[in-house]
Amino acid sequence: MNEIWNPEYESMSRDELRELQFKRLQMTLRWVYENVPFHHERWSAMKLKPADIRSLEDVRKLPFTVKADFKAAYPYGLFALPLDKVIRIHASSGTMSNPTVVGYSRGDLSTWSELCARVAVAGGARFHDVAQIAFEYGLTTGAFGMHAGLERVGVTVIPASTGNTVRQLQIMRDFKTTVLVGTPSYVMHLTDVALESGYDFKDLQLRVGLLGSEPWTNQVRAELERRTGMSASDIYGLSEVIGPGVSYECWNKDGLHISEDHFLVEVVDPQTGEPVPEGKEGELVFTSLTKEAVPVIRYRSGDLASVSYRACACGRIFARHSKVYARTDDMIVIRGVNVYPASIEAVLLDIEKVEPHYQIILYREGSLDQIEIQIEVTPSFFTDAVRKLQAFQHHVEERLRQELGIRPRVRLVEPKSIPRHAENSPRLIDNRGV
Ligand SMILES: [Zn+2]
Repeated sequence: MNEIWNPEYESMSRDELRELQFKRLQMTLRWVYENVPFHHERWSAMKLKPADIRSLEDVRKLPFTVKADFKAAYPYGLFALPLDKVIRIHASSGTMSNPTVVGYSRGDLSTWSELCARVAVAGGARFHDVAQIAFEYGLTTGAFGMHAGLERVGVTVIPASTGNTVRQLQIMRDFKTTVLVGTPSYVMHLTDVALESGYDFKDLQLRVGLLGSEPWTNQVRAELERRTGMSASDIYGLSEVIGPGVSYECWNKDGLHISEDHFLVEVVDPQTGEPVPEGKEGELVFTSLTKEAVPVIRYRSGDLASVSYRACACGRIFARHSKVYARTDDMIVIRGVNVYPASIEAVLLDIEKVEPHYQIILYREGSLDQIEIQIEVTPSFFTDAVRKLQAFQHHVEERLRQELGIRPRVRLVEPKSIPRHAENSPRLIDNRGV
């Protein structure tokens, strides 16, 4: 099971790695200073030149870049290369404001496929596999990134894209899919539809799931693995930094290895921007070390995680970040208590008999914020006595109060009453503004 795609880099010594990182950082800073006026002007205003960054730690002297900078520079303002040297464009799905636009040189696409090949192999994919990609093929980066990485490994790739769930199952059965790539919520949805349309995952050949592009807990992983029989690994990335391939889980599934030869990672306090100690949760900040078209300098991801430099049993030396459950901008404040929807999910899934289908509804009663959590329970549960239902409801409320300090109203609802598929059915509905 343990195979490393690129041991020369993934297993190099940390001393060699730091040396390589610093060399690449200097190159990147000079490249950006000369080619992106946005960075040049900001650094000049602070009387900083690339030569002033004399160590990896010195990177903290430089200002952060944030998503709003991409939006303000829309579409090509952060590009370090003219368009005739750029051979691919991707963009985030921004409906209300300018999307973030990124470009890739030929070299960037090669780097990206290398990074995604590491992801694929660490998750368990091999050249003899058949991979079905159920990410949407479009402006977003998920499908194209993993597509190129899997091809680089030699895997047979089926670009199934999203939608038409019954056809996905048919392809999975008839084409003998062994690797499934997609979002955890869509794979969960696939297993529901399979039940209804007579497909049994036991008859399929699925072995490996490479899942990501949304937060998901280890409880959801256990449930997906139970339903599908495959080993599910987390993949992480964001389009501003490169797309999927920034970090990945090995068989150990104890944090995601960051491809540190291509990205310098920092963890900062989201409020102060100051570094937090190893093992403490903060916001992940990335500096690209090899990107040509759109290098990022201290890019604030908005994702919250901790980073560990402890050695991993798999033999990779790259630092690992904890699974990303929450974003700095997801945080909801209810009567002065800060809470992340993902923390609510973790508690719910930990409680027996709760199916992983729920909805959080925020509303206002008078001047007070209220939170209601609707939870689907199993059909058999609904035949139980009212008293038992109430006791269960109370138990869930109590757990959420104890662990998160919130006082929600919990409502148990019948199976299938909460709409499926994350895109059209948000887990959080905030009615407080209306
Ligand atoms: Zn590992």
